[in-house]
Amino acid sequence: MNYYSLNKKAPNTSFKNAVIKGLAPDKGLYFPVDITPLPKAFFDNIENLSDVEIAYQAIKQFITSEIPDAVLKKIVEETLSFNFPIVTLNDRTSTLELFHGPTMAFKDVGARFMARCLGYFNKDSTKQVTVLVATSGDTGGAVASGFLGVKGVHVVILYPKGKVSAIQEKQLTTLGQNITALEVHGVFDDCQDMVKRAFLDEELTRRIQLTSANSINVARWLPQLFYFMFAYKQLYKKHKEIVFSIPSGNFGNICAGMMAQQLGLPVKHFIASNNENNVVTRYLKTENYNPKASVQTISNAMDVGNPSNFIRIQEIYKNDFKRLKDNLSSYSFTDEETKLALAEMYNQYNYIADPHGAVGYLGCKSYLKQNPNAHCVFLETAHPTKFLEVVEEVIKKKLDLPPQIKAVINKEKVAIPIKNYNDLKGFLLNKQE
Ligand SMILES: *Cc1c(COP(=O)(O)O)cnc(C)c1O
Repeated sequence: MNYYSLNKKAPNTSFKNAVIKGLAPDKGLYFPVDITPLPKAFFDNIENLSDVEIAYQAIKQFITSEIPDAVLKKIVEETLSFNFPIVTLNDRTSTLELFHGPTMAFKDVGARFMARCLGYFNKDSTKQVTVLVATSGDTGGAVASGFLGVKGVHVVILYPKGKVSAIQEKQLTTLGQNITALEVHGVFDDCQDMVKRAFLDEELTRRIQLTSANSINVARWLPQLFYFMFAYKQLYKKHKEIVFSIPSGNFGNICAGMMAQQLGLPVKHFIASNNENNVVTRYLKTENYNPKASVQTISNAMDVGNPSNFIRIQEIYKNDFKRLKDNLSSYSFTDEETKLALAEMYNQYNYIADPHGAVGYLGCKSYLKQNPNAHCVFLETAHPTKFLEVVEEVIKKKLDLPPQIKAVINKEKVAIPIKNYNDLKGFLLNKQE
């Protein structure tokens, strides 16, 4: 499969090269040249297919012969070694739980898939690939766990000191092996800026093969389209009009849902549910795209001022504002509203959500007021214990820690403190020798 750069100033490239490079040489995001819908029979009979079979059929065309069928099947199988259950709250609302993986955030699927693809492409190479990633919390843990032990790949995670939750910090600093955590004296934006600067640093990129494991990487982004098919499989016999509410930050997850729809998945509508970082909510109202510096909220994985994947959504709708608006609604909610939603779900449905899922739930409620015939599925993107303090305070109950969290909580943190870009560059170059 070929990919083109959305900046249109770089040559088309293979899946392999898109995965290894992350971004195109013109700094554009890669996008597949063709999208061929799956046969209608695939969706009509989807309840008879296993999750692995669904995922394999759906992703195959984006990779083609670059990974042999048997290897790709194995990669999909290993990626999806946990469940994606639907929990129904009422006639019109369900949630798809995406937090049953090793780090209990939905990013596990993309990280595990990408790690295995990179491992395959790198198996005969003597050249190390360095995956450089900045995290505000969940990405770091998922990438660390997904890439642990992958041959020829070294992972370097930058995280802001004191700004990730205690559990998130343990998840990204305790694995060892090929994973290194750098604790940055600064905020998330400083981490992100250093990573961007590294990609533009010619001296560095001449000596080191750097790639990104954020959702700009096609191998992390595309597997997220599986979720929407897994939800459809569990609901299509009961509900005719299925809509999805996606708690959104960088808009990679929702954009993957739109790719599933391009493949023929019968989705009626998408809802981008935002916290107060609401550039897309404002855009759909005013047609003005006005990125702003991010503000801190209790759903911190969505504290993104300028979502990197929105340009892919514009590409899907060919920059046609009306077409986009027919298929996408967006709402924005405050932390106060989010806490009330957590309490409401607990009191009315005995369901414990996390703050991101709660924003998704609110998106469903807003949409359903205008569209009473729809069945709305909100994605529950992280396990509530990852945001223990907020959740326990709101529902006034202690939560049990799941085994994935218990396993890291008493391990010893190992991180290298850094202050600035020179520290990062020095570390990367030394590592090379
Ligand atoms: C990353 C993340 C999101 C946002 O996903 P995007 O693909 O960036 O829009 C939402 N919830 C949680 C828990 C996350 O970790």
